[in-house]
Amino acid sequence: MTVQMEAQLVQLQACMYQYSRAIYRSIKDLIDPYAEPAVQLESRRSVLEQCEQTMERLAADPHYFAKPDRALFQDIRRFFPITAQAQVAWAVKEGVGAAVTFIEEQLEAGALDGGVARCRATTRKGKPCQRTPLPERDYCPSHQHLERSLAAA
Ligand SMILES: [Zn+2]
Repeated sequence: MTVQMEAQLVQLQACMYQYSRAIYRSIKDLIDPYAEPAVQLESRRSVLEQCEQTMERLAADPHYFAKPDRALFQDIRRFFPITAQAQVAWAVKEGVGAAVTFIEEQLEAGALDGGVARCRATTRKGKPCQRTPLPERDYCPSHQHLERSLAAA
């Protein structure tokens, strides 16, 4: 792993931590208010843990984690009273949705592609070219003229 990739991964993990804290904050006060304080503390700990695990899994496996918001809700709903379930489901959907959007943006920017080389060109739509560059080149076959014009400059 390159230093640059490691830095990106650390940054991503820090961001995912922010998202899991945000989800936790939005629902922690809905945890069964009539439970014993010790039980409530334990429930809070479990909810926070589940939020973090969901975010970690999402960061590690963004392509294959189907419906992460529903998975998280299923894992934590037992800590909330019936009357709070709808609100918890909504908060989880919002919070996980924001994290998924963030991850997708990172993927699109090529931050998480595991170091696979990508053509350096930008497509006409303004997105990074996703094609593989020619061996020992920075550009793919359709953008190789860019390399030549740079070399000439
Ligand atoms: Zn290209």
